[in-house]
Amino acid sequence: MAMNYITSAKLSLLGIGLLILQLSASGSENRQTRANYARPFEPPTRPALLALPPGAVEPQGWLRDWCLAARDGYTGHMDDYHVEFKRAWATDHTMTGECLNWPKGAWPYEGGGYWFDGLARLGYILQDDSLIQQAGRRLDVVVNNMNTNSILFLWWLNRNNAEDVKGSLMGGAWPIWACGLLGRAMSGYYAASEDPRVLKTLETAYSGNRDQIRVGWAMSNTWPAFDTYTWTGNKKIAAVLTTLFSKEGGGMNPGGTSWSRYRRMPGKEPGAEENDHVVHFLETTTPWAVGYLWTGDDSFLKAALGWHDFFESIAMQPYGAPVADEWYHPTGAFRGTETCDVAAYLWSKVMLLTVTGNSMMADRMERLFFNAAPATVSRDFKTHVYFQSPNRIVSSSPVFDHGPRASGGNYKPFHHPLCCTAALNRILPWFVTHMWMATYDNGLAATCYGPCKIKALAADHVPVDIICKTDYPFNEDIEITVKPVKEATFPLLFRIPGWCRNPELKVNGTTVDAAKNDQGFVRLNRAWKAGDTVRLHFPMTAVVSTGVDQAKGAAKDHKHKPDKLSLPEENKTPGKPYATVSYGPLLFSLAIPETSDVNTPDQSARWQFALDVNNPNVTVTRGSMPAKWDWPLSAPLSLSVNARTIEWDPQPQDPSLPMTAITGSEPSERIKLIPYGCTKFRISMFPVTIK
Ligand SMILES: [Zn+2]
Repeated sequence: MAMNYITSAKLSLLGIGLLILQLSASGSENRQTRANYARPFEPPTRPALLALPPGAVEPQGWLRDWCLAARDGYTGHMDDYHVEFKRAWATDHTMTGECLNWPKGAWPYEGGGYWFDGLARLGYILQDDSLIQQAGRRLDVVVNNMNTNSILFLWWLNRNNAEDVKGSLMGGAWPIWACGLLGRAMSGYYAASEDPRVLKTLETAYSGNRDQIRVGWAMSNTWPAFDTYTWTGNKKIAAVLTTLFSKEGGGMNPGGTSWSRYRRMPGKEPGAEENDHVVHFLETTTPWAVGYLWTGDDSFLKAALGWHDFFESIAMQPYGAPVADEWYHPTGAFRGTETCDVAAYLWSKVMLLTVTGNSMMADRMERLFFNAAPATVSRDFKTHVYFQSPNRIVSSSPVFDHGPRASGGNYKPFHHPLCCTAALNRILPWFVTHMWMATYDNGLAATCYGPCKIKALAADHVPVDIICKTDYPFNEDIEITVKPVKEATFPLLFRIPGWCRNPELKVNGTTVDAAKNDQGFVRLNRAWKAGDTVRLHFPMTAVVSTGVDQAKGAAKDHKHKPDKLSLPEENKTPGKPYATVSYGPLLFSLAIPETSDVNTPDQSARWQFALDVNNPNVTVTRGSMPAKWDWPLSAPLSLSVNARTIEWDPQPQDPSLPMTAITGSEPSERIKLIPYGCTKFRISMFPVTIK
């Protein structure tokens, strides 16, 4: 062991020597020619888009109001919600041995990773020094204590000590998984702060041990390890990634096949694949896209995308997040989505958007962010659900399969386990940070829409301010003002939402061709000068979609039981017909107003309706935006639709839609629908009528 340490210490010195050589030989000349936001050490296969550092995109308007609620609610105050957040990565909470298993004391390493990632990014996007300093104080504990013996970021453990290594593998290598979340927080913090001590911490963590990022749920470390390589060119990190993506890499995983199965495409034959825990699924399928960047072998990317498509076609809920209660299952009106998976799904789509440049990934980011995201938290951002479901009629219903079961659907300051309380902090800053991205030809791309301000470089290091003035998605118009410090020629790319059939685009008042390219963007390459404006008009249309709910009922017990999967067209389970109503990226719901608090529905509210799918006759009503945005029941946008009163008395323990469409010729009445995100109790997957 001692011998090993000396050898690796020498290698580490050699690594630093090589790094300096590389910087002087290729890095510096590279800097003149490389794109504004490209990293100094990138493999030849490049991602389609480049992330801007956290803080380049600043939320405005309704989006800023919501981010301020996050700051004043959970994100700035997690220590007040539960003592575990005081313990997260603190000097006086250094677990060893058995206590590195999550129920025995190591949980705060996951919670801290999630929270600090959200905290630092929210601080930078709001330019809030107090949040940035709070994130810095917490992350500095790791930065200041890191040493070459550390096991990833577990600085109090010694990777040359067999007992410590054994401890780090407790609970399916729980601490290694948690390290990946902290690595992601560190990576975001470094991208924003450019603090060399933070980069050194990342480099020390990921160059130290070649095997540990291949155990258990350790794939969470892949992206931050790759990030660290692209900033440092560290040869040992390169070796880790090369081993991971070599042919035998998956087989060398001491955790078995739980993640190497995702190196290949899913089998499409009915029952060929089993479902998975959704956090694990998202965190373990997505990183194979790094394999494509690292090796140039596109079978890695095809596998990642193939699994995401498979998952999408089986488990997607109309609010844009999958069924994840906590495993994935067929779409269902009373199935749940764990809040951790709202955050993890968004993260996975950011990554796949970055690698592929395909606007469909951004469509999915918006659908999730404008629907599922606001349902995770109360309007004051001080209570949250563990599970949300399309239909929520009464509190403590339904009984979800896992986690806190029935109480998981209620808004509470925290839930046990605490994962979602931590993970929810990531949702807003990850979306805002990636609303605009850079291109390798020194352009900028509008990937997701909403009110915001951008400060970024374009063309040959020309600083550009961009202001996006809009109430989108609550209206259809976006006014973008471009202000480069001097006239400069560069491309601006605008995503055309996949749902939009007739987009209109004007530059300085003149209509330009809004035909999108293969990736779903309109690219305007021209000389931009201060004050140029781009007006986007994305006409929305109401869409009534129908489907069948093939979800199974509530589980009798709390045991993880994998299910064999079939694509919906091959699923023989009898389905209950349902309909949903969307308008642009928004899902609409019949709100059941809450009374004294967000867990008490108005008993007198009528919600027993079936949607008249033959003649929905949807009409749109617009109001003005409120002075301060908090996802109100008095929404600025509402729809009216034909529906019929029905007999429907779902049992709270195991609710379901009616088995068949409702027949009869009673007249329809008009019911009002509002955005799903503005409701706390609601029907959004409706029973249907048949003539
Ligand atoms: Zn969770």
